[in-house]
Amino acid sequence: MTDISDTDISAQVLGWFREAWDPDLTLVEWRNRLVDSGWAAPSWSSDWFGRDLPAWADRVAHATIRDAGGVAVPLGAGYGLAAPTMYDHASNELKRKYLRRTLTGELAWCQLFSEPGAGSDLAGLTTTAVRDGDEWIVNGQKVWNTSADHADMGILVARTDWGAVKHAGLSYFVLDMHQDGVTARPIEQMNFRNSFNEVFLTDARIPHENMVGAEGAGWKVARGTLAHERSFATQRTVRFARGASGRVIDEARAEAAEYLKTYEWYPQRMGRVDLVTERAAAMGLTDDRVLRQEMVDLFSLQRASEWTAGRAKAGRALGRPPGSEGSIGKLALSEVARRAHRVHTRIAGARGLLKESDDPVDAVIAEVLVSTPAQSIAGGTDEIQHNIIGENVLGLPKEPAVDRGQPFRDVGKNTGRGSTT
Ligand SMILES: Cc1cc2nc3c(=O)[nH]c(=O)nc-3n(C[C@H](O)[C@H](O)[C@H](O)COP(=O)(O)OP(=O)(O)OC[C@H]3O[C@@H](n4cnc5c(N)ncnc54)[C@H](O)[C@@H]3O)c2cc1C
Repeated sequence: MTDISDTDISAQVLGWFREAWDPDLTLVEWRNRLVDSGWAAPSWSSDWFGRDLPAWADRVAHATIRDAGGVAVPLGAGYGLAAPTMYDHASNELKRKYLRRTLTGELAWCQLFSEPGAGSDLAGLTTTAVRDGDEWIVNGQKVWNTSADHADMGILVARTDWGAVKHAGLSYFVLDMHQDGVTARPIEQMNFRNSFNEVFLTDARIPHENMVGAEGAGWKVARGTLAHERSFATQRTVRFARGASGRVIDEARAEAAEYLKTYEWYPQRMGRVDLVTERAAAMGLTDDRVLRQEMVDLFSLQRASEWTAGRAKAGRALGRPPGSEGSIGKLALSEVARRAHRVHTRIAGARGLLKESDDPVDAVIAEVLVSTPAQSIAGGTDEIQHNIIGENVLGLPKEPAVDRGQPFRDVGKNTGRGSTT
């Protein structure tokens, strides 16, 4: 079905939706109907809730359903990361166990990848899973895990073979978070939010059937998740058509409001460039020549970065593989956030320290100033993007590595405590 257009898909979805929509259903009942129709994940195969359509069909189907006054799939790491990874790599048994309930939003997921000593160098992780009959027993610590304190399930990468070389000793699991061996502790951030957690795994148990992909293939599977993460990262808004109402809509609104609490500060993390002109005017600074120059630099960079993102999006819509725009765009967003931070500091002066203020905008600016550093860390730091551009785009020699070609147990490790073992 390669010649199908987005208008054809919209028309088909709309035809189905008009027959199927019942606002008095519960959200889960409605989403089960959606999953059964094949329009929850139309790019998936017809054996697994899909319609064998191209990747862009998912976006078109979901937008059509929302515009018509309905509800599509849930936001979050479940639909965005866990489901596509399982769809690509899991056994049929595992897909049967989890895919439907992930698409309906019954299961909330978190990503258990980073560790105190393994962030940029993710493949250096040391959380260990040891086989015990039909189960794996997991011990270690994860960190920076968004929403882990209220997740039902986690996607987890753990080391299953210390005798193998670094990347070959990892396996990928889905972990039930509701068990004694799993403790998620929220971390208080410097912007007073608690989006992240540290997760302690102490003899946590995972049935062998919950391994995704083959034993030792965890790195390949994790790279698949990270590729999905790059496209999913921008989906942090939920739209409801004007006038949409009914039980399904009420439950979906409540679900979205709960989910989005975690991300309330994310616009601040990007620098709130939209507030710059208004704040400069409010403070009587629009004639300040130095400030004007910095504002123009900021607006120009932001506009150029939007064009780069637009080019990347257009390429993907045409089915082109992700190119260097991804890393360049990510770097540009970090720079926009940094410059916005500087401009807001210049405008706000000491008022930028006012977290509690009579003026709610001051509080937003205060949050901008302590949130922008996250922009150049999340999803791969600036330095890592430089490395990717250097090696993959400019063809520079690879970084020297001292941890390849020998069993991981013999390699010096970052313990996350400022020393190596
Ligand atoms: C908003 C946000 C959300 C997140 N959500 C999650 C989540 O849900 N699940 C999860 O598992 N993780 C999550 N993370 C963690 C994130 O993936 C890591 O913070 C990131 O990969 C960086 O790792 P690190 O913090 O360990 O820093 P490190 O890797 O220790 O880096 C420290 C510094 O060293 C530099 N550096 C490291 N290696 C190199 C190199 N080879 N060359 C040059 N410089 C280098 C880095 O650029 C950085 O400046 C989140 C982080 C943020 C900020």
